[in-house]
Amino acid sequence: MIKKGWDNFFTEIAFIKKLIIQEGYMSFIYRRITSGLLILFFLFAFIKPNSVTASPGLVTITGTIKFQPRNWNSTSQNYLLSQDLAIQLYQYTGGVPILIDSTNTDSFGKYTFASKPIQNLTIFLKVWTQYPVNTLIPENSVMDTHTNIFNFPSDNTYLPNTGQYTKDFTITDQWPGYEALWIFQDLRNTWHYFYNTYYKNGNPYDSGIANVIWEPGVNGYMGINSSYTTPVYIFIADNSKNSMDVVVHEDAHKVMINANGYWYVDSNCFQHSIPRASDFKCAWAEGWADFLPLVVNNDQCYNFGKDKCQGTADQDYYNLELHSRMDNWNDFNWGESVEGRVAGALYDLYDSNNEGMDRIFRGITPIANYALKNPPIQTFQDFWNLWKANEPDTFLSGLTLYWNTIMYININQIYLPRVNK
Ligand SMILES: [Zn+2]
Repeated sequence: MIKKGWDNFFTEIAFIKKLIIQEGYMSFIYRRITSGLLILFFLFAFIKPNSVTASPGLVTITGTIKFQPRNWNSTSQNYLLSQDLAIQLYQYTGGVPILIDSTNTDSFGKYTFASKPIQNLTIFLKVWTQYPVNTLIPENSVMDTHTNIFNFPSDNTYLPNTGQYTKDFTITDQWPGYEALWIFQDLRNTWHYFYNTYYKNGNPYDSGIANVIWEPGVNGYMGINSSYTTPVYIFIADNSKNSMDVVVHEDAHKVMINANGYWYVDSNCFQHSIPRASDFKCAWAEGWADFLPLVVNNDQCYNFGKDKCQGTADQDYYNLELHSRMDNWNDFNWGESVEGRVAGALYDLYDSNNEGMDRIFRGITPIANYALKNPPIQTFQDFWNLWKANEPDTFLSGLTLYWNTIMYININQIYLPRVNK
């Protein structure tokens, strides 16, 4: 080490001698000084100022996303939490914004962007009707007729300080197309309903992909002037966006298609309606889709408007718990070829309120087991055959169906005189 040091020293001396001989000693000294000043200049000009202004501090951004719901009330300001939305964090530049990070809101509408060196930047959020974020094929999304997913930018925020910054964002009717958030939340509610309440082979049930096309003012798509479902997409007509039950109805078809491919398209089914007889297959497919919104949206009415069980009965809504064999046939047809009867029977097998001759409370599990079975069943009679073979209390189940005008058992036995033992 020492030897090497001295070697270097002698090399340097030799180098200095050479320079003195070649260029003169003063010239050498002068050049050493000026190069030293240049180095100092660069140090001050670039390194030290750099450490003051161009090394931003770390900021964590967190917040809650809310939206203006269907039943908006300006007095109570009943904004709802936006679960599972895709959310992007952008740097505002005045020109093309720069994407910094992306995530999803959780089931409480909350999001967090991990700590980043973004102090002294101006940022904004962009919320998308898509889950999950950063995927080519979303599990759920709402897009317009040009298949552009709706997005909603927030206002800009300058971040002067390091640490945590809270940026909440409420999307109201000031954002065109904000109703896409209603439809998106209906899709997520349906997905979560199955995941949280129905287990298949011991696992939470994933009801699969459902992507909606909807656009303000558009009531028909691909030549069909109503809401409908295909194996590829769901179309929600703008004139039914107010009904969360219509959205879940269409999603129920998609859940069934995802589970077992059952998709009934027949001229008997084109003009179907809740109280009218169609055919057995149509009544089964539509009855399932009329039933599911009642349990996902947690009320016994199938509502065409924003409000639950409000307005004119059998016009603005159908109360499928109240309809029974007490109905006049002309007002509400009877039997297993009537979708409203299938839905009412499924609801009475499901629900805990046993009114009239409804004697069964079994929840979603056996119903979903048979409805979503693969290969699929095709009629309510098929459903009943599985139910009869696998569930207890066949007679009481049959009585529950009888209450809903569907007669699969010999009901007369209930009127036989009791035998006293
Ligand atoms: Zn339908």
